[in-house]
Amino acid sequence: MAITKTDFINFTRCQRYAALNEVKKEKLDADITYQEYKEKEQSEKIEELLAEMFESNEEAEEEIDLVDKVDRQLEAMMDYYKLVEKEAGRISEKIFRGKSIYAEDTKEQECFDFSLNGIRYICYVDIYNEHENEINIIEVKATTNSKYLKTFGHPKSDKYPIWLKKNNVYWLKDEIAGYDIEAEMPIKKYDEFRNKLFNRYDIGKYVYDLAIQRYFIEHEYISTHTEDKLKNFHYYLAVLNYDYIFDGTYIDGKPIYNPDSEGNELITFFDMTNVTEEYQEIIDADRQKLEIYLNSLNASPCSLGNYCCFKSRAECKFFSPICGKMIPKKNSSLNYLYNGSGFTKEDGTKIKGLELINEGYINMLDVPDAWITKNYHQIQRDSVAFDKVYIDKEKIDIGLKQLEYPIYHLDFETMPCPVPRYRGERPYIQSPFEFSLHIEREPGICDKDKDNIVFLAKTHEDEREEMIKLMLKHMDPNKGTLFAQNVPFEKGRIKELATIFPEYRTDLMKLYDRGFDLLWLVKTNSKLYQDLGFDEERAKTFNFYDKRLSGSFSIKKLCQFLVI
Ligand code: SF4
Repeated sequence: MAITKTDFINFTRCQRYAALNEVKKEKLDADITYQEYKEKEQSEKIEELLAEMFESNEEAEEEIDLVDKVDRQLEAMMDYYKLVEKEAGRISEKIFRGKSIYAEDTKEQECFDFSLNGIRYICYVDIYNEHENEINIIEVKATTNSKYLKTFGHPKSDKYPIWLKKNNVYWLKDEIAGYDIEAEMPIKKYDEFRNKLFNRYDIGKYVYDLAIQRYFIEHEYISTHTEDKLKNFHYYLAVLNYDYIFDGTYIDGKPIYNPDSEGNELITFFDMTNVTEEYQEIIDADRQKLEIYLNSLNASPCSLGNYCCFKSRAECKFFSPICGKMIPKKNSSLNYLYNGSGFTKEDGTKIKGLELINEGYINMLDVPDAWITKNYHQIQRDSVAFDKVYIDKEKIDIGLKQLEYPIYHLDFETMPCPVPRYRGERPYIQSPFEFSLHIEREPGICDKDKDNIVFLAKTHEDEREEMIKLMLKHMDPNKGTLFAQNVPFEKGRIKELATIFPEYRTDLMKLYDRGFDLLWLVKTNSKLYQDLGFDEERAKTFNFYDKRLSGSFSIKKLCQFLVI
């Protein structure tokens, strides 16, 4: 068994991981077959792609067990990942010229490896592009450029990003000769954003990944005394372009991703040559740590931390069964709502997230009373301490009076596809293929046959126009209420359809304006209730809370309170 890039990432999480993984020390310099390598790395790629899809689903506020591995789901997504990789390879030849090697299932992909201190390190690169003397190493990620543009910018995230795009490649502005960064933001702020690229457990995750590849590549050349060739190497991330709008061209049933009307390509590139160079010291320190961990194989407990990637798709496989098993599923100290900045202790220091668990504040009631300063935290706490249900009937009653009949209970099912499927779509758009509509004509009056309308696409063809027609046949845009749990999701889909099908825009946007959210009645809507005359404090306090919610107003949690 050799150490792959994924192993490197996992084994350097903490001192415990390798020991729990039962690594066989004596096999660390053994060979690894291409098939074994692919299995390990490809499942990681698909995990990443699913993580992006689930992130898109946050808009739908669906409660998904992010670490629940479903093999069929992984298999189904493999084709999408291959398509992203293929398109990245095709477009890389247009941008960088020369020849790109980006085979999917063959041994054509370029492999780099080296051995050090009895351990063999190995990686294959997604795209190896060679043009004249230049070598471009390109790592394909099924994320989008919008994540990078939004996270690194000032003062409005998308207004002054730290990147400048030229010829479909994003460059860091400090690497562009003569660029006046200070005209846009203070250098200190710029550096703050740039430094985020070095946070491997957040937005710097993929850059770290590429930097490991660079480390492996450079050490192969160093070990063969050919490092002079390395000066011609450049390193890029290839990601989906969120600005790209598919024109709907198909040939033989397959989408053809031509540049769009604005000249955008489906894939765009980020130059990470200098950043990955800066990373090399960090990777070398991590490699030394990894060797210590592998030599000691110490499985004794260690503190939980950001390296556990708790509640993300990258969550460590040992979190739930071993390291974090003391955290109760319900009403733990982590279930206090809106608590990103944590609690302030008596001595003024802050404590948040997994630090609470590390310090023994495991259950909701373990958190000292004195730390609770927010009204809604007190409500949560009282619900557990005294088994008390909190309800503000007056607010709920007044909220209900805002509903106009008929009430259209609408629910879309969508596919956040990495690559656009139909005309007008962009990567990861929530592409609707089903809706269910229940029409409540008067309070409690809804005929289970006549007033229940369902649309389900029967083919993989574009059936969105039929879907719109059926919606508008049954929903009067001039009266009633569009009602849903997390209505911004339904409204978002309606708005997208209105943009793609302008002939229905007027009616669709009228429906859009009629949205009302179940969460406004249960959780609250500060602006709505202030407009209705409540003071700010009461307007922002929950209308309902029960300990069975355990800090979540998801539809699954709320359903248990339905009175049938
Ligand atoms: S759950 Fe966290 S502490 Fe435990 S092995 Fe994984 S990374 Fe390490």
